[in-house]
Amino acid sequence: QQIDFQDVTLITPTAAMSAAVHGGRAKCLQRLIRLGMPVPTTLALSFDAVLQIAKGHLPDLAAMLDPFGPSPLLSVRPSSQDPDWGGPGAILNIGMNDESHAALSKRVGEAAATALYVRFVQSYAIHVVRLDPDVFDFPNLSDASVLRAALETFEAEADEPFPQDVSVQLSEVLRSMARAWDGTSARLLREAKGAPVDAGLGLVVQALALGVGADESGSGVIQFVSSATGQPQIIGRYLSQSQGREALNDRAGAIYLTSDPRGPALEDISPDNFAALVSYGAIARTRLREEMQIEFTLEDNVLHILDAVRIQRSSRALVQIAVALATDEVIPREEAVMRVPPNALSEMLHRQVDPSAIRDIIVRGIGASPGAATGRIVLTAAEAQASAARGEACILVRRETTPEDIRGMHAAQAVLTMRGGITSHAAVIGRGLGVPCVVGASDLTIDRKRQEIVAPGGRRFASGDTITVDGTTGTVLAGAPDMLEATLDDAFQTLLAWADDFRDIGVRANADTPADAQTASNFAAEGIGLCRTEHMFFEGDRLGVMREMIFAETADDRRVVLDRLMPMQRADFVKLFSIMDGQPVTIRLFDMPLHEFLPYDKAGQRDLAEQLAMPVSIVTDRVQALSEYNPMLGMRGVRQGIAVPEIYDMQARAIFEAVADVAGRGLPVQPEIMIPLISAMREVELIKGRIDAIAAAVQRETGVSFAFKLGVMVETPRAALRAQDIVKYASFLSFGTNDLTQMTYGLSRDDAGRFMSAYVQQGVYEEDPFHTLDLDGVGELLAIGAARGRAGRPDVVVSICGEHGGTRAAIGFCRTQKFNYVSCSPFRVPLARLSAAQLAL
Ligand code: PEP
Ligand code: MG
Repeated sequence: QQIDFQDVTLITPTAAMSAAVHGGRAKCLQRLIRLGMPVPTTLALSFDAVLQIAKGHLPDLAAMLDPFGPSPLLSVRPSSQDPDWGGPGAILNIGMNDESHAALSKRVGEAAATALYVRFVQSYAIHVVRLDPDVFDFPNLSDASVLRAALETFEAEADEPFPQDVSVQLSEVLRSMARAWDGTSARLLREAKGAPVDAGLGLVVQALALGVGADESGSGVIQFVSSATGQPQIIGRYLSQSQGREALNDRAGAIYLTSDPRGPALEDISPDNFAALVSYGAIARTRLREEMQIEFTLEDNVLHILDAVRIQRSSRALVQIAVALATDEVIPREEAVMRVPPNALSEMLHRQVDPSAIRDIIVRGIGASPGAATGRIVLTAAEAQASAARGEACILVRRETTPEDIRGMHAAQAVLTMRGGITSHAAVIGRGLGVPCVVGASDLTIDRKRQEIVAPGGRRFASGDTITVDGTTGTVLAGAPDMLEATLDDAFQTLLAWADDFRDIGVRANADTPADAQTASNFAAEGIGLCRTEHMFFEGDRLGVMREMIFAETADDRRVVLDRLMPMQRADFVKLFSIMDGQPVTIRLFDMPLHEFLPYDKAGQRDLAEQLAMPVSIVTDRVQALSEYNPMLGMRGVRQGIAVPEIYDMQARAIFEAVADVAGRGLPVQPEIMIPLISAMREVELIKGRIDAIAAAVQRETGVSFAFKLGVMVETPRAALRAQDIVKYASFLSFGTNDLTQMTYGLSRDDAGRFMSAYVQQGVYEEDPFHTLDLDGVGELLAIGAARGRAGRPDVVVSICGEHGGTRAAIGFCRTQKFNYVSCSPFRVPLARLSAAQLAL
């Protein structure tokens, strides 16, 4: 059935065409034609036309073939809206038949003509008639007997002679390509790349530039920057007497483009055409505003431009190209900022498994901290430290990590856990340290007896075996695949500096240690939005002191022990203030249940009894006394501050003495003290009373006067609901969305991993709410809290510091709610700066 097609368009400089109707390739070809490039005659079939063809209708083939003249040779290529969505492979040499074979033999020699014909029979048989590729495997294309064999095999397999009529050939090619687009695998592939369900396919039919001939003929591709680095460099290959992209497949026969000591080059054998290509490259860059790879053919030394596509690029090249185009004023800076997806930065900030490396995946989990690292398996924190002391790279594998593992995590190159989700201890610490981390690899078990880990399929890896943790993809790999190093080049810095000009929300970092603070400062964070002070109780011999404090009988005894911790904390704070150089540093007071400082196993408890010179029964009694049914809702956060005020007093003094030290030396400092887990105004009032008194005392003692801010974390629903009262004593509200999510859902952040995938798979939750901020529920509490806080204190500073803080969705939400800043892991700061800019543009 033949219908009247409106949508077969001869591509001319003025034809009405668009990527949304005819696809990206067709539109690009029109641009090349407009730019004066020698593109062979080309027709564009719109998405609608292709849809009709898939349904069995056909265009007026005689009219279609008319622009190509008598006995044409043609190619057909896909033209999806976004070239990245792919499409069926190109088919070349349509029109080859006995007659054109004879004519062509006279022009270009029999061998070349035969090769073209055989190749067409092959691809027609395999891709159009869908015959078995094996029977069409003819190695010697240009042999006349092979041509006979190909035609006979076709006839035998297809039950009909090879079609000689070009309109039959073309209509069958069009039909098969149109149908291929509808196939399940093509659909899944393009949807994985972000194509909509109803994405259309256009096709372009182009007069074939032969690439074979008496005078210099051949084909090649050229690009003008490196796909790996984005730096200017002419890259490509040219292959004499070839078609399409053969030059890329036949590395041995292909030659370089620019003059090269290693052998002949296109620049030498065809200097004029080479010069023309270079000038077309420059034109394409400025006019198409993109780095393009150009596909070209020489036919008897005449240059034809067949196609141009955006060059493939690594993340590093992506940034470099965007910045270079903006620097050269080809695109505005805003566009350069928009062109880089924030995740691309993450690839630059961390070592990555080389995309071309072979990946032997042992197990999958949740990628909780990006980057990849290789090392030997260790099963305890102590072994990790021992490994580090020997200078050996190790991967710490734990069922889950606890604060006791921190030093081991520091010492390890990467961390792998079986339990826990995106806000588990391992995940939070891993991100903070910039240590690659995969959590929740629940298909893995540890065989303690044999000191082995057991992966799905019963694969076993012993302690000491080498594995690689890829925290970017959430996979664990056997052995040591090739890696790509992190690169923070000038283009990266430039792009982020531009992003800062466009964004309208602040970005701070969650930083606990001087190393974190240094990272935060390197990434131009505008301060520290959350310093979790807990870790400060674990380093060096502090853990011992902390444990002594827990066993102290009276408040006075506690104070005496804590006095030994105070100078250590003060020194930590001095370092943080110095590194942050006058930018705000928000220090959160102690938030951890005390039982986490005690060993949970019998051996550890015996050890501790020995250290404290106490009967082991006292230790076990204390562990019992401190144990809670539900520690996350128990004696933590401000509740410790109220019930056991000595710890907060000590911390306040350490902070203020550090402030006095820094300010006394004439250096700028902006301290902010933050109280965790509050749920009532009176909690803030009580803590504020003690803190103000300590501030006054330190100012008196040191003779240095200083200012500080006091604020609270909003982590309980009640704190959000009562924000209007709470701001009476708090000058800032920082939403801790980890706990707030936990409490809003009534969902344990440490146990949710067990059923989260079932929930997400069945659509109960769209996504893990610990990963992606739940804008509907938790978000409403944020909006309510911010609004009520502002009602009570119009200039209250509002921010978010949960793990969501660096995500695009949360940043977008916080912008619309006019939050002052977001705070996120130091390594996410660059991504947050870029996301914030993109959201503002
Ligand atoms: C939070 O709850 O969101 C938070 C930042 O605090 P933490 O993760 O330390 O509980
Ligand atoms: Mg919290």
